[in-house]
Amino acid sequence: MNRSSLNATQLFTYENRLLGEFHGRKSSPTVIVIAGIHGNEKAGVHAVKNVLKKIKRDKVVFDGNLFFILGNINALNKGIRFEQIDLNRIWRNKNMEDLINFKEEPKQEVKEQLNIYELIKEILEKENGPFYFLDLHTTSASSVPFITISDSLNNRKFSSNFPIPVVLGIEEYLDGPLLTFINEYGHIAMGFEGGSHQDPTSIANCEAFIWKTLVRSKCVQKSQVKDFDKYKLILADLCCKYQFFAINYRYLIENGEKFEMKLGFKNFEPIEKGQLLAISNGEEIRAKETGRIFMPLYQDLGEDGFFILHKISKFWLKASIVARKLKINQFLRLIPGVRQERGNNFTLIVNPKIARFMTKEIFHLFGYRQQIYKDDKFHFIKRDRKVTELL
Ligand SMILES: [Zn+2]
Repeated sequence: MNRSSLNATQLFTYENRLLGEFHGRKSSPTVIVIAGIHGNEKAGVHAVKNVLKKIKRDKVVFDGNLFFILGNINALNKGIRFEQIDLNRIWRNKNMEDLINFKEEPKQEVKEQLNIYELIKEILEKENGPFYFLDLHTTSASSVPFITISDSLNNRKFSSNFPIPVVLGIEEYLDGPLLTFINEYGHIAMGFEGGSHQDPTSIANCEAFIWKTLVRSKCVQKSQVKDFDKYKLILADLCCKYQFFAINYRYLIENGEKFEMKLGFKNFEPIEKGQLLAISNGEEIRAKETGRIFMPLYQDLGEDGFFILHKISKFWLKASIVARKLKINQFLRLIPGVRQERGNNFTLIVNPKIARFMTKEIFHLFGYRQQIYKDDKFHFIKRDRKVTELL
């Protein structure tokens, strides 16, 4: 990181972005909690403050390290999702170098991004892994808490510690979320959606998630957390216990479209094919398939109307572990129409005209997720990585 970028980020100092840091007896693992990357989602920030109070009050002793990082400070202060661009849609590797060497006055969120980037880089350099990243969010629709992850085996394994639904591969539909960026350096990274923006139980859910992560990652011993069983109960018996889901369908809202979701849908609520879901420009939108409704849009900002999920079978989950461990993916690039991107071991470029029989699911099985569609070709990126240093 050169000096010129530091000038532009003076506005936010580490003092106010770093809400707390704790160092333990063993110096590993390191847990990094990010709260408020969306400024209208304050439950995570309140939860962090409650956890900080409890750590001090109960004099919790740490084995590893813990850092609490604030996301979009400017948007949090203003109570808005973001000022100019969504801070959770601008984390792309190819952009980072440009950002670091920027010439023009950067957008508000880019200043925050650089500041967060510098802080994370410093932590990764100074502390010992394994590193666990948590990103706390809330949703506009009423929802049971759930986890979102990039589909790497280390992410999957760690998220199975929590008796709540896990949604895989959402990064195929979101461009540039922070956690996908982190994941590409091989670290465990989980998004946690604690419930709806306004619901006070969302705060309790985020707190429980932080404590459970600290214990399951062995950053803190269970005996250090008074009433740990209370947190266990908060995240239990809600819905879809230990189930993994994939996105089957996305309703994308066009520019200028008047989209209105039918009121009352809850996340993960089962829906039937043909069921009325929304009204768009006066026309009915009905479910194209049976499944579960996911992220129905009940706020003004956003381009995704809703998603439809399906449950991933235990068989698929196991088969994909075997396929990845045997490293059969080496053979994928030998198939006509599939080639490896030059100088990049993690990206396969697929020409759908030639590799016509290859479905997305085959790439998913081997741990590849489609990231972009460029020049009539799909770019699939490998999610399982060894740990490497940040740019
Ligand atoms: Zn969010």
